Amino acid sequence: MLMTDQRETRDVCIVGAGPAGLTAGLFTARAGLDTLVINAGEPILRRNAHLENVPGFPAGVNSRLFLDMLDDQTERNGCDRQEAQVRTVTDADGGHLAVETDEGVIRADYVICTSWADTDYLQLDAVDLTERGSKTYIDVTEDGETGVDGLYAAGRIAGQPHQTVVSAGHGATVALSVVHDSEVPFYHDWVAPEGYFTERGREVPPGCEEIDEAEQQRRERESMAVMQEYFDDPHPDEPTQHPSVREG
Ligand SMILES: Cc1cc2nc3c(=O)[nH]c(=O)nc-3n(C[C@H](O)[C@H](O)[C@H](O)COP(=O)(O)OP(=O)(O)OC[C@H]3O[C@@H](n4cnc5c(N)ncnc54)[C@H](O)[C@@H]3O)c2cc1C
Repeated sequence: MLMTDQRETRDVCIVGAGPAGLTAGLFTARAGLDTLVINAGEPILRRNAHLENVPGFPAGVNSRLFLDMLDDQTERNGCDRQEAQVRTVTDADGGHLAVETDEGVIRADYVICTSWADTDYLQLDAVDLTERGSKTYIDVTEDGETGVDGLYAAGRIAGQPHQTVVSAGHGATVALSVVHDSEVPFYHDWVAPEGYFTERGREVPPGCEEIDEAEQQRRERESMAVMQEYFDDPHPDEPTQHPSVREG
């Protein structure tokens, strides 16, 4: 057990900033949990040439642009990001988990591993791993739980099929398990028109919001401006080639 004289404490620490990790961070941060996403290296989606099976993009989208937009969305919703390699995740005092990086140690109530394709940092005997071919996966329950209290896994590293939207959806599902396991009251994350709940004599449920027409129009205009800016010019980055393909 690592004794921490603690430098930083978070509700949720997420390892990896691909579709699974960023979507998990979006959901836990929007639920009000203090969330940090730690990433080193590139999400594998940066190798894609054109992303055509993510809902909502009728003609597809540049996958590097998609990752930039998801990153931006996560940050706008209050999730913090750190660029660092996670070296170990171990038990800490007080029932927390300790996430050790090159930069220091972060103590967290919940850790979500989305670190395709690295499991080397998991120093906990109770985490079961499965090897298939050259890859290692983290065994999880339906809710993304591992054998260690507070430790979850999501996305490809948790054995999900190898598609962007599947990893993102699994990140959301596992994040909601964390939200339900935390002390945050019941949570829906809906934005409804004014009166949707209250004009039926109901309180607006926790995690939900009612907005009036003016606010709805303001948000729509903001989203249009943000999207127009993103789609003004082609993305500058080329796909990352597989490391075994030699430069021509
Ligand atoms: C060439 C190619 C084309 C593809 N095309 C498509 C497509 O058209 N449509 C589609 O749906 N899917 C496609 N995919 C698959 C898709 O990219 C993945 O299934 C999906 O991105 C997996 O997301 P993830 O969040 O689980 O993992 P990743 O996106 O890989 O994210 C994991 C992150 O964790 C980081 N990490 C790992 N270890 C550590 C550590 N110890 N500390 C900190 N960070 C760490 C990694 O560097 C990475 O940034 C393609 C994949 C490839 C390779």
